[in-house]
Amino acid sequence: MNSGNLFARARRRIPGGVNSPVRAFRAVGGEPVFVKRAKGSRIWSVDGVELIDYVGSWGPAILGHAPPVVVSAISETAQRGVSFGIPNPLEVEMAELICTWIPAIEKIRMVNSGTEATMSCLRLARGFTKRDKIVKFAGCYHGHADSLLVKAGSGALTHGQPDSAGVPRAIAGETIVLPFNNIEAVRAAFREDKDQIAGIILEPIPANAGLFFPREDFLHQLREECTRNGAVLIFDEVMTGFRVARGGAQQLYEIRPDLTALGKVIGGGLPVGAFGGRTEIMDQLSPNGPVYQAGTLSGNPLALAAGLAQLRELHRIDGWRLLEDLGAKLESRLADAISGKELIFHRIGSMFCLFFASGPIFDLESAQRSDTKKFAQFFHSCLEGGLYFPPSQFETAFISTAHSDEDIEQTARVVREALTRL
Ligand SMILES: *Cc1c(COP(=O)(O)O)cnc(C)c1O
Repeated sequence: MNSGNLFARARRRIPGGVNSPVRAFRAVGGEPVFVKRAKGSRIWSVDGVELIDYVGSWGPAILGHAPPVVVSAISETAQRGVSFGIPNPLEVEMAELICTWIPAIEKIRMVNSGTEATMSCLRLARGFTKRDKIVKFAGCYHGHADSLLVKAGSGALTHGQPDSAGVPRAIAGETIVLPFNNIEAVRAAFREDKDQIAGIILEPIPANAGLFFPREDFLHQLREECTRNGAVLIFDEVMTGFRVARGGAQQLYEIRPDLTALGKVIGGGLPVGAFGGRTEIMDQLSPNGPVYQAGTLSGNPLALAAGLAQLRELHRIDGWRLLEDLGAKLESRLADAISGKELIFHRIGSMFCLFFASGPIFDLESAQRSDTKKFAQFFHSCLEGGLYFPPSQFETAFISTAHSDEDIEQTARVVREALTRL
């Protein structure tokens, strides 16, 4: 059994051989690595290769792989039943913990993925405002619900064209796509579609088109515009929640969104999402209100036990401080290898991205100036050197608390060599 013949078998029975497209390595060429085992900062492939992992299951593995607290929470909980479809105490514990750590969340509901969380936020915003249009930003990814699979042309005020076959034009047409960091475009949209915009959804720190940052004031201006126009401000913190700070990006930038979508870290590696916000809006949900939302496996005890164990451990060890130290160390070890080249290194805490472009990068259009061929070469060079980075220029890499100082040193060495060889 090796990655090559597993992938051949996979392609016969799974479209593209994968259950989520980025795993197929199309952006970098070559064939995916199949994982046999993962522990701490390391993964081991079925081919017997050991790699330092910077994907971390795309964010959830913030304590590294298979952290003992999470594994034992799962196995202890499983002894008492794996799913009930009846209220269980862990749901109350999780709701209380999230509402304490993220004060803008007054009420919360658990779902099974980030996609479900953002999709539910949209329905709720529409139900609450009795309006249909949604504003999103080019380059922000919010999962694969119909309304959100639209990025359309960047730069101009554009009414959405679907990104995917199978998304009805009528639905995409209710999505307005704007360039990130451009408040004038937002103001123009509110003027043009007066009293029709239900809400604005964004990744407060966009991390699905590489990684870039909101300009000073942009998020505050969005908050003001939403309040002024009676629209719901939705922060998609599926990636940044519990990752960039205990209270997510909204804590760092001191913004109170009306609704927040969560996922990834919250599930400790199990399939979980959540969405929450102002009581007045959340109480529109059934059975209290007219907006329907439900889930057979929502509030699943295994997922919540894993998530609670992970969040409490992060808090106990002050994981966010540790992650910042590791991130800063990597950044400083790479600084001279990057400066003066056509490279931009973006980092916030434990999230980072190396763009093969000259700066500045602040929206999708500027991110897309990157040399993806160079990135692909760099990626494979790092893979040979024992590093598993996300297999696309337009993704973000994650450090975990299980990464050691030696891991970071070794990573810096391999990255520097890979850059020299380009
Ligand atoms: C990953 C991600 C999602 C989608 O979450 P899934 O669990 O993959 O459905 C939504 N929004 C953001 C910002 C994400 O990073």
